[in-house]
Amino acid sequence: MSEPPLHARPRVAFLGLGAIGRPMAARVARLYPLTVWNRTAEGARRFGEATGARVAATPRAAAEAAEVVLTCLPTSADVEGLLDGPDGLLAGFRPGALLVDCTSGSPAASRRIAARLRAAGHGFVDAPVSGGTNGAEAGSLTVMLGGEEQDVLQAREVVRAFGQRIEHLGGVGTGHAMKAVNNALLAVNILALGEALTALARAGVRPGPAVGVLNASSGRSFVSEVLVPERVLTGRFPPTFRLALLHKDAGIAAELADECGVDHPILAHAVELLARARAILGEEADYIEALRVNERQAGVELRA
Ligand code: NDP
Repeated sequence: MSEPPLHARPRVAFLGLGAIGRPMAARVARLYPLTVWNRTAEGARRFGEATGARVAATPRAAAEAAEVVLTCLPTSADVEGLLDGPDGLLAGFRPGALLVDCTSGSPAASRRIAARLRAAGHGFVDAPVSGGTNGAEAGSLTVMLGGEEQDVLQAREVVRAFGQRIEHLGGVGTGHAMKAVNNALLAVNILALGEALTALARAGVRPGPAVGVLNASSGRSFVSEVLVPERVLTGRFPPTFRLALLHKDAGIAAELADECGVDHPILAHAVELLARARAILGEEADYIEALRVNERQAGVELRA
């Protein structure tokens, strides 16, 4: 299908040019007329210079310039914090606007936000992503959509700019539920591998061969196949996704299980361990650095 001319496509606003928001917004800029806003104005100015996107001075001004507004902030509370006040999104939304929230947020908060927007005649879709900053650059993210059919149809048109697998999971909040559970499993894998590899190192098995055997055996995972070889064994630890955000995601999944009356002893313990790692390593540590806590405790380094 051929693309409509640029002026006939929906205008998009993107708020939150962080580690993953920036490359996602850059993909949107290739397909749609784009306006961006970032809390720290310098980030938006540099993005505008690099991509030709317009820069808005406030969330309100960003919303005024678009039919579809995307947010990608650390938490749902941060998204809620942009809604109100004279410079807020609600003051700027055009009639029938759609908010597509790519934050890895909380289902309950999303339902709250959606209800407020619906009362003002606007739509809401939760659209968290998976695939990391590399996936955002390549346009190969998985996008998990929660919302009403009509809104999801409209959201799909825009998120295809950075998404490859785009899945509509159900009503508002289901995208966020799916994302939280995915990241909870990622967290459990990271924590388990930290224990396993340090125990093996102490038992005299070198980390390189240990990871090689795991990856040819049934104990393998994305963490053992990709994260540990690329980031831990090499000692590179590139900053792509903050441990603080993984802790937040595991917490959302635990809350969800609680609300649904589902026992979750493994997840509850993972949340505690992540909180401890976050306290030790700080707010800027990358997620895979959680293994440094195991390394320090065992007095080993998991390098090839
Ligand atoms: P970062 O911490 O790198 O960036 C956060 C962005 O949100 C920055 O633009 C920051 O602005 C802005 N921000 C922070 N607090 C507020 C606030 N209170 N009000 C307005 N803006 C605010 O996060 P990421 O880009 O890594 O993550 C964004 C979301 O995407 C998170 O929910 C995360 O869990 C999720 N995610 C991240 C992935 C990754 O690989 N990084 C992968 C998949 C999902 P400023 O520039 O001023 O700091």
